[in-house]
Amino acid sequence: MYKGIAASRGIAIGKAFVLDQEDFPIKKREITAEEVEKEIVRFREALKHTAEDLLHMKEKVSHKLGMKHARIFDAYLLVLEDPVFVEETIENIKKNHLNVEYVFNQVLGKIVHVFKAIDDEYLKERSKDIQDLGKRVLRYLVGEEKETLAHLNEKVIVVASDLTPSDTVAMREENVLGFATDRGGKTSHTTIMAQSLEIPAVVGLKNLTQRVSAGDVVIVDGTQGLVIINPDETILEHYYDEQKKLKKEEKELKKLSSLEAKTLDGYQFNLMANIEVPEETDSVIKHGADGIGLYRTEFLYMNRSDMPTEEEQWHAYKKVAKAVYPKPVIIRTIDLGGDKFLSSEGTPQEINPFLGLRAIRLCLKHPDIFKVQLRAILRASVLGNIKIMYPMVSGVEELQKANNILKDVKDDLTGENIPFDENIQVGAMIEIPSAAMTAEILAKEADFLSIGTNDLIQYTMAVDRVNESVAYLYEPLHPAVLNLIKRVIDAGHKENKLVSVCGEMAGDPLITLIFIGLGLDAFSMGPTAIPKIKKIIRSVTKSEAIELTQKIFNQTNTTAIKRLIKHINIEE
Ligand code: PEP
Ligand code: MG
Repeated sequence: MYKGIAASRGIAIGKAFVLDQEDFPIKKREITAEEVEKEIVRFREALKHTAEDLLHMKEKVSHKLGMKHARIFDAYLLVLEDPVFVEETIENIKKNHLNVEYVFNQVLGKIVHVFKAIDDEYLKERSKDIQDLGKRVLRYLVGEEKETLAHLNEKVIVVASDLTPSDTVAMREENVLGFATDRGGKTSHTTIMAQSLEIPAVVGLKNLTQRVSAGDVVIVDGTQGLVIINPDETILEHYYDEQKKLKKEEKELKKLSSLEAKTLDGYQFNLMANIEVPEETDSVIKHGADGIGLYRTEFLYMNRSDMPTEEEQWHAYKKVAKAVYPKPVIIRTIDLGGDKFLSSEGTPQEINPFLGLRAIRLCLKHPDIFKVQLRAILRASVLGNIKIMYPMVSGVEELQKANNILKDVKDDLTGENIPFDENIQVGAMIEIPSAAMTAEILAKEADFLSIGTNDLIQYTMAVDRVNESVAYLYEPLHPAVLNLIKRVIDAGHKENKLVSVCGEMAGDPLITLIFIGLGLDAFSMGPTAIPKIKKIIRSVTKSEAIELTQKIFNQTNTTAIKRLIKHINIEE
């Protein structure tokens, strides 16, 4: 059992599909009786090539380090000739009429398991050598093709060192039961994507990929942040029961979708949804959102070698606006950079990409790219329910510069007689401390403010949001973070501007009362979190929330704040 960071709620149980740089797709294929001999010959060839490689390595090592060290290769060569390795594979090909790489991989998995189960650290470690050896053989059998999520052809738990947003975009999500990754934190994009797809996930598991083999049975408990490999019957049964219970609970919560997010003393809040792709609008509607508070448009640009055209973007934005009309859609202009890149080739070599050319900075540097997106958004705005929002604004000059470009684009459209919403609202995201500290000035220039707490925490605490080694410092309830949020809400209200929170904090039930107490206008979160937050809002009064918030702001540290919050018995 391994403990990681609970990234996306729910329980998934299934076979592991291990995705790492070293892996390649092992496809299962039935073969005819005539093909059996061919497969066996392929197997013998692969063994021969692997043995040749090992001999070659042995020579090199003995040259460099002496014969003593080179002897390890003799042991490897012996394993390659071992009847369990060789005979069992050949027998199974004959018996089951399946392709060699699949059969060999199964045999390999079995041997590795036997070694892993031995109660001796040295022998346990040898399982890695055997796995490595097996991979060498497999590489000859399947060629060098790299494993990608586009190859999934059965329902699996994806285990990976990390998943780039482009990995997740390429995957066939209907085949993904759950995610478990070595790296990542509460707000890395694997987490956000898993939440939006309603796939259970645990991240930050350090070296899980080295402990799981393809085909292992894995339980992903995304609520507790646990991953269990090859569980026994009792554990498995317990988790099947839990899975059923959770599904029932979710059904209950969804019944709330048509009810208002109103406190017992009559204060209403807007519960909006965050989306990454237009396909999510179904989920937005199903979970009873009051609109879309954050549409992360950069996902349109990722996992491809070209830029999306104005036409393509226009279609996507129009589709989303139409799907939720008359409810509003806040389209965030591209937030590329950080951990979201166009494609692996387009990845800039920045030492600190999160502090680099990201989001609005990138757009201001490349107005040609920015203008295409703004034209597409404006053209899609004719229905009147679209708003624009700029990410990562660091101060008022950036907001003004972006607005000047927007004005140019509007003038162009007017000149071309192309209709758009002349009164389109434009907001700024507050996710950098410098923006939070100057929120009063930004609130004068912007039509609304939206606090991106994922980044605001990252930049306030100086903690990389995807680095699990410092994840313990990534603390939404740090007094500094709470003070900045309060400051932004107050600044917005002073200028009569609506303020929302669209980072993951908005969907955290433990924090809901604080936001109510601070007078936040709107919460925007993954659609699945909405019913839970709505239930909390409907079960409290604003005055009790204010009272709690005052107490919280009197605390000097996170531990004390957490203690206070946990004391409150929220009926979930
Ligand atoms: C945020 O930073 O809180 C946010 C909502 O934006 P993203 O997670 O896309 O960076
Ligand atoms: Mg952000």
